Parts: sequence; C-alpha cells; structure tokens
Amino acid sequence: MKRNKISPVLPVYNRADVAMVRGEGVYLIDEDGRRYLDFAAGIAVNSLGHCHPHLVEALAAQAATLWHCSNLYRMPGLERLAARLVEHSFADTVFMTNSGAEAVECGIKMIRKYHAAKGTPRPRVITAQGAFHGRTLACISAGRNARAIEGYAPLLDGFDQVAFNDLAALEAAIGPETGGILLETVQGEGGIRPHSRDYLRAVRNVADTHGLLLFLDEVQCGMGRTGSLFAFEDYGIEPDISSVAKGIGSGFPMGACLATERAASGMGQGAHGGTYGGNPLATAVGNAVLDILLAEGFMKNVRRTGAELKAALCDAATRFPAIIAEVRGMGLMLGIKTNVPPRDMVTRLRAGGLLAVASAADSVIRFVPPLTITRAHVEEAMRIITRTCEEWT
Ligand SMILES: *Cc1c(COP(=O)(O)O)cnc(C)c1O
Repeated sequence: MKRNKISPVLPVYNRADVAMVRGEGVYLIDEDGRRYLDFAAGIAVNSLGHCHPHLVEALAAQAATLWHCSNLYRMPGLERLAARLVEHSFADTVFMTNSGAEAVECGIKMIRKYHAAKGTPRPRVITAQGAFHGRTLACISAGRNARAIEGYAPLLDGFDQVAFNDLAALEAAIGPETGGILLETVQGEGGIRPHSRDYLRAVRNVADTHGLLLFLDEVQCGMGRTGSLFAFEDYGIEPDISSVAKGIGSGFPMGACLATERAASGMGQGAHGGTYGGNPLATAVGNAVLDILLAEGFMKNVRRTGAELKAALCDAATRFPAIIAEVRGMGLMLGIKTNVPPRDMVTRLRAGGLLAVASAADSVIRFVPPLTITRAHVEEAMRIITRTCEEWT
C-alpha cells in the first residue's frame, strides 16, 4: 500500500466536507440524506436543475443509441444544435467543445486566424482586469489572475489587460498588432460585475472603427442566466464571436464557440478540431436544454424570479448592513458583496440548507440557481439567508 500524503484526487480544490450523492430539481442531497436548496447549481451550470425529466429522457435514449463516432462523420444532433444556435443568435457558425475553456481557446485562435488569413497578422487581444476565461495556458494568460498564473510562466504572449469598464484605458491599449477584444459581458468569477451599457456599446463601436473582432465570453452569463438567451441581448449589441458552456449542458460537459461568417473566415478545414466536441451524447442534451430555454415564457419567468430574488436580497442588505454591503447582477446571476468573509458566509448558509458560491474576487457570494426556480424557492432561500444574518456573531 502506498503511504502518500497527497490524496488520490489531485488536491487543487478546497472542498466542503459534504458528499453529494443525488439531485432532485432545485435540491441536492448528501450521503446522510440531508437536502440543500441549490443556489450554486454546480457554479451556474445546472440551468434546468438536477435530473430534469426531459434531459434524463434525451440522454438515456441517446445512450442506448450512439455515444460517439467522431467528427470524421456527419452527426445529425450536432447539425441540429448548431443550426438552432445560429437561428437564435448573431452567429452564422458554431464549433462545439467539451468545456468553457476550450470554447474560449477556439475564439482566441479564431481572432488570430482571421487577421493572419487576411495577410495582416494582428495577434494581440485586449482583456479586462478581474476577468476569468478558464484554466488552459491561453485562458489564464488572458485572465491574468494572480493565483491562477502563479508558477506557470512563461505565459502565452499576446494579451493586454486593461481596467474594467474603462473606455479610455481600452482605447489607449489598441496598437497596430491588436486584433480583438475579449470581455465577459458580465464578469462571473470576478464577483458578478456587469459592464455598463454605455461601455459595451462604445466597445462595439471602437472594435468596428479599428477593425477588431469583439469576442464576448458568455460561458457563465449566457444561456438564459441573465434572463435573455445571451447577456449581450440585454445591452442591445452583438459580438463577432461568443463562447458559451456551463448552462448549455445543464450538467453535461459541453461548450460552444459561436461566430459570424466574417469572424470565422479564416477557419477552414484543418484549422481547428477536437475528438469529442459535439458528440451525440452532448448534443442530445444540448438540444433538450434548448427545447426548454426557447419555450414560450421561459425567459420571462427567469427575469421575474430574478427580480424577486434581487429585491429580497436588497431588503436583506437594508436590514443587515453589517453583513451585506451591496447587491449586484441581473436575472438569476446575482451576487452580494459581504462585509464578512464570503467563505464563512457560504459555510453558514450551507449549514442552514442553502448552497451558494463564493467568488474568488471582491468578497462576493454568488447566487446562480437553476433557472427553473419558483417564488417558493426564493422565499425558502431568503428564510435561510435572513436566519443566517440574524444569528451571525
Ligand atoms: C467557467 C468559465 C470559463 C471556463 O469554463 P470551464 O468549463 O471551466 O473550462 C470560461 N469563462 C467564463 C466566463 C467562465 O465563467
């Protein structure tokens, strides 16, 4: 027997000591049978909650039919999912991935390829402070979060990070080698920070003026999270490239890079690839998720429950100013800035039966529940939050 100190699971996560074994709708159940109201949703992933019957049926049927055949062949599920994403967005074409980071990687490569294929290489990409784009070397080089990059030098060259929501800083960073701008429409890991409407609209104009591609990373804020299928819809703009993941599979690992025909003009045969992306299991789930997200009235309901939760959190902030400093976000992508350590608060909420996510940055707790929650779930969450604040010592 090996006498290692390291655990068999690579210890890169600071895990809570609860073992989750089952999910039912908006609830997670641990090995002791304890039920938690899940406003963490696997970090904004389980957009339709746990074990949604329509998704279970789609996945089970596909599992009994065909799992994988590779991108060597046409795949009807992939073709249908891509066509539906195209129909409901700015995009003309879609590359499917297995994760958010891969979707971002695809978009970064696409920016470089676009300019290179035109014979005018402009490989540099402007990014924002506080950004999170995933954990590959390119993605941490883009995000430049101090903890995420520590020990990983040399980083990938070609990213210029500017202050958040600061147009003058962004314009000043544009040089002859700048080829694109990569922003999260609403920063997630950075602490639920929406860009201002004026800023994002101005960035769209600046990109057009300078011939840059605008790449909006919607891995966290997209797929209905803000109450629109894409968060940029709330800003009245369209990007040239966008990455989605998290909510698109509601727990099945998948992502997508969406692009206009022009932005993707460099991406011919052999330019990019991946063994698994768009495989039949994933696209069966992705299509089933879209069935529900696109159903009449679904987004309206997200906006309504989001507004109810936000209003209730604002009330709590007024009642408990020593604990809650600020409420942020839109739709069901909400955060509270806390005057107490956010990890402690998350631990106490969990003890009370409510799951939330601490943000790496900015003392923020995120509430990113399944988009299927009802007013009753909002009330149940607020009872736990209120009790936790009352009992805080
Ligand atoms: C989570 C996230 C990613 C990375 O997604 P993975 O599936 O973990 O690779 C990228 N961008 C944003 C905005 C995210 O929130």
